[in-house]
Amino acid sequence: MKSSVAFFCAFLIVPVSLAAELPGVVRIRASDIFQGGVAAIRVDGEDLVGVRGLLHDREIPFFPGHDGSYFALVGIDLEEQHGPREIRIQGQDNAGKSWEGRATFNVKKRSFPQEKISVSTEFDRFDEATRKRIEQEQEQMVHLWTVTSQKRLWEERFLPPVAAVITSPFGLRRIVNGLPRAPHGGVDLKAPLGTQVVAPNHGRVILRDDFFFSGKSLVLDHGGGLYTMYFHLQDFAVEKGIQVRKGDLIGWTGMTGRVTGPHLHWGARLNGARVDPFGLLEIPGESPVAGGGKEGQ
Ligand SMILES: [Zn+2]
Repeated sequence: MKSSVAFFCAFLIVPVSLAAELPGVVRIRASDIFQGGVAAIRVDGEDLVGVRGLLHDREIPFFPGHDGSYFALVGIDLEEQHGPREIRIQGQDNAGKSWEGRATFNVKKRSFPQEKISVSTEFDRFDEATRKRIEQEQEQMVHLWTVTSQKRLWEERFLPPVAAVITSPFGLRRIVNGLPRAPHGGVDLKAPLGTQVVAPNHGRVILRDDFFFSGKSLVLDHGGGLYTMYFHLQDFAVEKGIQVRKGDLIGWTGMTGRVTGPHLHWGARLNGARVDPFGLLEIPGESPVAGGGKEGQ
């Protein structure tokens, strides 16, 4: 079974091209990362303020660490093209002088497992009302990832939401009746009906709804553009809008929605990218140093 993305192996130290003279040395460290992984970027320097990053045109929030450094987590979508990437990083010194640097890293190809199945063509045939419902629910979900909540709520290490036995891995390519489907955007965790699901970190409940495919579905916003989701729940333990703490009960596993057996689908989005939620468990906590990912076993 392929498990998660391992974290923090290699370092790349990138010299910074300064937009203005900066006292001291600014070091930007980023790491090569596999598709579906979480890259950590760390900026060290003297008297850094207002550090921010831009990937394509999307802002990547940076957070101050305990030691004066700044760090950010960057999600790489499981279908993102492999190859070099560059993140523009801007900041100021305490005299208000601005500087700009670049973090460079490589997106590496990860080989995802594949599964071929045949189903009756009736299985995929939906009436007009159901098709509309599915479309609306997909739009509702996609809209969530367009909003990047700047304030980081998560702290230190993440917990698994249930004891983790993976039954369907992240990124699984399913070929149904010879046609490729969207890859599996999360992991399915084996859990008997009614198993307690806990919040892996602090966050806010931003979606609590009953959807056609994903059944009783909950989404937590952990701040800084990081979201985690919990599908096919039997029931919810929390209301929409409330803040939860790491380890709080948020619901019970079930088999609601379109599933063949009880399990928890656990997914994660970071800056809009579908990332392996097991990558979150490997974030070493406050002010992580930059590191690489590897294909896990
Ligand atoms: Zn799933």
